[in-house]
Amino acid sequence: MNEARSLPLTELPPLDGELSLDTEVRAAAADDFGHVVERMPLAVLRPGSVQDIALVTRWAADNGWKVAARGQGHSTFGRSQVDTGIVIDMTGFGDIHRVGEDHIVVGAGATWRSVLAATLPRKLTPPVLTNYLDLSVGGTLSVGGIGGTTHRYGMATDNVRELEVVTGEGKVFTCSREENTELFDCVRAGLGQFALITRATLSLVAAPDRARRYALVYPDLESLAADQRLLLRKGRADHLQGSILAPDGRWRHQLEMVVFHASGDQPDDDAVLAGLADDRAQAQIDDLSYREYVEAFDKFEELLRTTGEWANAHPWWLTFLPGSAAEETAAAVLADIEPQDVGVHGLVTFYPLTVDAIRTPLVTMPAGEVVFTFNLIRFASTDTQQVGHMLEQNRALYPRIRAAGGVVYPVSAFPLTPSEWEEHFGARWPVVRSAKERFDPAHCLTPGYEVF
Ligand SMILES: Cc1cc2nc3c(=O)[nH]c(=O)nc-3n(C[C@H](O)[C@H](O)[C@H](O)COP(=O)(O)OP(=O)(O)OC[C@H]3O[C@@H](n4cnc5c(N)ncnc54)[C@H](O)[C@@H]3O)c2cc1C
Repeated sequence: MNEARSLPLTELPPLDGELSLDTEVRAAAADDFGHVVERMPLAVLRPGSVQDIALVTRWAADNGWKVAARGQGHSTFGRSQVDTGIVIDMTGFGDIHRVGEDHIVVGAGATWRSVLAATLPRKLTPPVLTNYLDLSVGGTLSVGGIGGTTHRYGMATDNVRELEVVTGEGKVFTCSREENTELFDCVRAGLGQFALITRATLSLVAAPDRARRYALVYPDLESLAADQRLLLRKGRADHLQGSILAPDGRWRHQLEMVVFHASGDQPDDDAVLAGLADDRAQAQIDDLSYREYVEAFDKFEELLRTTGEWANAHPWWLTFLPGSAAEETAAAVLADIEPQDVGVHGLVTFYPLTVDAIRTPLVTMPAGEVVFTFNLIRFASTDTQQVGHMLEQNRALYPRIRAAGGVVYPVSAFPLTPSEWEEHFGARWPVVRSAKERFDPAHCLTPGYEVF
């Protein structure tokens, strides 16, 4: 009854860490933040060294098992799960190895919070941070990593200098723009398909002293988008996001802009807000320290933990829409869904990016210079029927998004078939397929996306 016994452990060379067959340990790795998909692994590796990851990956590949890394388990659709194989728990692999003047070297299991704990005392920061800081660096780099400064600096994957990785054949490589470039280009945003990331060198920039945050309210999506486009064009916002939420059952449209500044050199609000058509009486302006700015999501998490929504299912739906059809497509989708389809404290995020800033080859974006994120950040109740309904909606939305020229962000709670993945990667599919054969010929790595 315990499938774990079927692993021929005697054939495994001694490890620096531990391969656990414990039911509780395996059950923890069978779940994720989505609480939608559950797959029980045969074992969980807590690696003591990169050699452990290499040995176990090679051993698994030779024996026909699958392997996936698990960072913080915040994916929403079983992407770090494996049923016929081994989950590699990266949480103990998060050392901060070195902080330089413009870079930091970390274990892939490090979280963005731990990166900041090492960099902020030196007044340094990664240029792009995810809104939520308790994601692992490796988990984020395997998908992209979008944040409020992406319109300027691209994805987290665009701000990586070097990676140490273990391929599906259990070989350890260092890769960068200069060395093993093919590997570097397919591992970043590569959905864990070609190699596992064990160590990352991330670029750092000077951390601003202060962040002046403007929360502006709009009557509808068109006026919100018009001002977002204006701000993007004028380059006025250091951080630019926006959301549509329904605290009282009616959609409310909100723009969030942050302007960084030095202490004692406050931005001129009139200049920052010039030409914007928001309902100024409802505008909220706060002056925050940079730390308060990067930790802003913590308050939201605290609220969701209090209401229980943090522990419920999260059938998230994340997409990028082409700028040419963003307002029209998002408005049509919003007209067809109800506020309860994202949950009591759920929200729809909607904001523009300049595609030029995004250079990671495997980050898939719609055509055009400007694209919009359009995400249904759903917090379900405990009602399983509601979860089913949200998942059905995700499925029904897919062809609509594709027809509008949009693409999914692969962190969505949504099963793509291999041919839909092929469609997703489009012109890059031949590169994806040949990199798979080259670096993971046994198709051992990260089966949770079902790409192959
Ligand atoms: C509350 C919340 C807020 C979020 N905010 C943002 C945001 O602002 N921007 C954004 O872009 N995303 C955001 N996300 C999505 C998030 O970036 C991804 O889900 C990310 O993959 C989660 O990282 P993790 O460490 O929890 O990864 P896991 O869930 O542990 O893993 C995710 C995937 O990455 C793979 N993986 C993990 N570690 C490695 C590794 N070392 N090498 C190779 N593959 C690996 C796993 O096998 C799996 O396929 C958010 C998610 C949550 C839950």
